Amino acid sequence: MATRRSKHARRVLVLGGGIAGIAAALDLSQRGIAVTLVESRERLGGRASSFFDAKSGLWLDNCQHVTLGCCSAYLGLLSRLGVERAIRWDDEQYWVEAGGRTTVLRPGRLPAPMHGLPSFLRARFLTVAEKARIAGALAQMGLLRRFDHEAQTFGQLLDDLGQRDSERRKFWDPIIISACNLHPDRVSALPAIQVFQDAFLAGARASRMGVLMVPLGSIYERAREAIRNAGGRLILGESVARFGARVATLASGQTLDADAVICALPFEKAFLCAEDELKRRDERFAGLARMKHSPILGVHLFFDRPVMRLPHSVLVGRETQWLFRKDPEGKVIHAVVSAADGWMPLEPEEITRRVLGDLLACFPQAASAELRLSRPVKERRASFAYTPGFEALRPASVSEEADTPVLAGDYTSTGWPATMEGAARSGCSAAALFRRPERALV
Ligand SMILES: Cc1cc2nc3c(=O)[nH]c(=O)nc-3n(C[C@H](O)[C@H](O)[C@H](O)COP(=O)(O)OP(=O)(O)OC[C@H]3O[C@@H](n4cnc5c(N)ncnc54)[C@H](O)[C@@H]3O)c2cc1C
Repeated sequence: MATRRSKHARRVLVLGGGIAGIAAALDLSQRGIAVTLVESRERLGGRASSFFDAKSGLWLDNCQHVTLGCCSAYLGLLSRLGVERAIRWDDEQYWVEAGGRTTVLRPGRLPAPMHGLPSFLRARFLTVAEKARIAGALAQMGLLRRFDHEAQTFGQLLDDLGQRDSERRKFWDPIIISACNLHPDRVSALPAIQVFQDAFLAGARASRMGVLMVPLGSIYERAREAIRNAGGRLILGESVARFGARVATLASGQTLDADAVICALPFEKAFLCAEDELKRRDERFAGLARMKHSPILGVHLFFDRPVMRLPHSVLVGRETQWLFRKDPEGKVIHAVVSAADGWMPLEPEEITRRVLGDLLACFPQAASAELRLSRPVKERRASFAYTPGFEALRPASVSEEADTPVLAGDYTSTGWPATMEGAARSGCSAAALFRRPERALV
């Protein structure tokens, strides 16, 4: 078990400019520590970012990213950057069935965990028997010690809780596939239980869904400015080729040294770029080599007229789990397919055909609309695959071993699934290990 040590550092190298790297670099630079952040792309943001799409002439997000009210570290980061008002908070959730029948799940006045019960009992997409079985399972789930269930899949837990195929397909699958990016039959029960305990059952504020109303990329413009204004240095468009405890060599051949290194690269790159000598003596790297990815597909759809007026929708029993309205009228829609392994080999035309099929099944009135443009974005390495046994592979941010880098990133031992919250937490915890030299405790 690694111990938390306070590190004296005047100069810290942060490798990787995703949310973990940004959170660490911002915190350190604002506390007067000289930070250099190295990012291989020209822009910050990593897996939660935007790109310029020449066909639409717009900045598009790689995928719709949502946050929840319980994501305190990520929301703290947005607030530090002064962009927390760019979030639209959806208290209600719209579940839409084939044919268009819609159920609105909303918090009521009862105290948590009962706050959602009255609207759940009115849900039209579930039978009375299904609701009874789901409510019973939720009540038990609220009381489970989630770490005791790490080694089983959520599917096995649902079996133990008496859940049948119909409620799985209609209720559990859409929630867990999108929250954990794996099918319930593959995902460890640990993160799935957490989704219910920390969000859905924790109260109206914890479970409300936040959707950014600006492109993700615009947030990082703020981050770049804030880090620079605090005296930090950003090296963008340069890849790290090798790193150790106090040094990084860039692909260009330049060597950067510092008092400490925070590695906020994705796990596969952290493993690839760590010095061999470091990997031999720092056992945290052994787990990284055994981690696997799970893909997500996002599809930007542009119609000639409004097709969905709801702010978002969960599509009951469809392969496309979520639709998000991206403009005030509902002509621009973003569709999300999580755990999208089967979609990765598909051509854009086939992806569009299938997603459009799901949309039209649930919004039949959209049949008269013309699809002007479809822009599928495949993210093969969207998240780590949180299967049973994964928790043991997650490295602590600091090692017992002397002369080792600090690790940050959503894959480290954050207590969270692969989320912006996990990434933000890891970056903040990594930065918190360092104290200004003149104030450092021995
Ligand atoms: C399609 C998709 C949808 C998602 N949806 C959600 C969601 O709705 N809600 C949510 O909370 N989370 C979501 N996530 C997960 C979330 O985006 C990630 O958990 C989070 O962004 C990870 O941040 P990170 O800093 O740990 O890693 P990364 O974002 O991977 O950051 C690592 C950085 O290192 C850089 N890098 C890589 N190699 C090198 C190198 N050799 N040298 C220098 N730099 C390098 C990368 O370019 C990157 O910027 C989604 C992810 C994807 C891909």
